[in-house]
Amino acid sequence: MTRDLTATLPHAPDAPASAALLDRARAVTPGGVNSPVRAFRAVGGTPRFMTSGSGAWLTDADGHDYVDLVCSWGPMILGHAHPVVLEAVRRTIENGFSFGTPSENEVALAEEIVARVPPVEQLRLVSSGTEATMSAIRLARGYTGRSLVVKFAGHYHGHVDSLLVSAGSGVATLALPDSAGVPAEMAAETLVVPYNDVAAVEAVFAARGDQIACVITEAAAGNMGVVPPEPGFTQALRRITEQHGALLVSDEVMTGFRCSAAGWWGLEGVDVAPDLMTFGKVMGGGFPAAAFGGRRDVMALLAPDGPVYQAGTLSGNPVATAAGLATLQACDEALYDRLGTVSHTIAEAASQALTAAGVPHRVQWAGSMFSVFFREGPVRTYDDARAQDTAAFGRFFHAMLDAGVYLPPSAFESWFVSGAHDERALERVVSALPAAAAAAATA
Ligand SMILES: *Cc1c(COP(=O)(O)O)cnc(C)c1O
Repeated sequence: MTRDLTATLPHAPDAPASAALLDRARAVTPGGVNSPVRAFRAVGGTPRFMTSGSGAWLTDADGHDYVDLVCSWGPMILGHAHPVVLEAVRRTIENGFSFGTPSENEVALAEEIVARVPPVEQLRLVSSGTEATMSAIRLARGYTGRSLVVKFAGHYHGHVDSLLVSAGSGVATLALPDSAGVPAEMAAETLVVPYNDVAAVEAVFAARGDQIACVITEAAAGNMGVVPPEPGFTQALRRITEQHGALLVSDEVMTGFRCSAAGWWGLEGVDVAPDLMTFGKVMGGGFPAAAFGGRRDVMALLAPDGPVYQAGTLSGNPVATAAGLATLQACDEALYDRLGTVSHTIAEAASQALTAAGVPHRVQWAGSMFSVFFREGPVRTYDDARAQDTAAFGRFFHAMLDAGVYLPPSAFESWFVSGAHDERALERVVSALPAAAAAAATA
């Protein structure tokens, strides 16, 4: 486990209302949180309980405001409470919350995704990214009649039992090798190989290729910090899986509709069409909506047409799909241009400040997603990502928090911006950076 830094922090967190809420929360919820990384264990201190969000800004229970560089871990690509999405949600919710029947919004959202991402001929809506990857893997196993899954070290695909092996995100933050409660037999169905290592993928297929149902990969890794595939890597995955009759599953839960209108796939090009893709985060607009989809002949195996069972009481929820559709419709070229400008302004200012303070670092990109590794680069693998100065990041994080900038509370996460990050928000971030870099430098 990562050392709990709470006791060693140089400054007492000036957040009494959040601290009181955390005490209440801890009495009724393990760790006081409903998703581990929110607990600040990697950086120490009191997690802030937020009470409202508007545009680029969050306000906590003590009335402090922050420029939000987490954006709910990606979904809030337009900023908080965007008026167009708010109006779509209001209009929809007036007519009921959930029907347990088909409804038109689900069709419209599916049409929007199919139109944006041509490898997706059909898709099925679910409520979380975890459900999407879990279902995609069941489908790949049903289609191939094989059981093994290949994943990459440091890639996170949600908390699916068989994928919680060498996973990133909260698992990286807590430095858990994998999770208790996952049967060894289940973990044994997953073969973990180093990322960006074509020879390792070839070796695993040479040994067990006829038993491998699929390779699942983050289209560009974002859950160990941002580590994009090296040129030719995705093409190699496509070639090797095809040679061995295995499916290629591209997990775009984080990158989908964020890196471009067609996600990471849209940046990488047409010669790497995966068989199945998974989506979440942006496509729900801040509500629980996610999806998996791909080749029509593979999707045809899903119930009720085929033998692979998959279902969900709230799948395709009318309110969530309305929010997702309104969000995607507002994700036009101007929005992606703005995300590029905002992210480059922040990343360049961060890099300059860290350089000036003499802090070794490396900025890496996937579209407008970026992260700052507290080590020199390049970072190609999970081992590379883990070999960074997480204590320096913790000091940097707290100085930024004190200055009113909410960074992801872990060195292993992407920073996210939105179309609502305006000049005032940028000014807050840029002016906070020199002192934070100086704090990072003081060991
Ligand atoms: C966030 C994420 C998931 C899991 O999505 P949840 O909605 O949290 O279940 C899966 N894959 C990737 C790449 C993600 O970033």
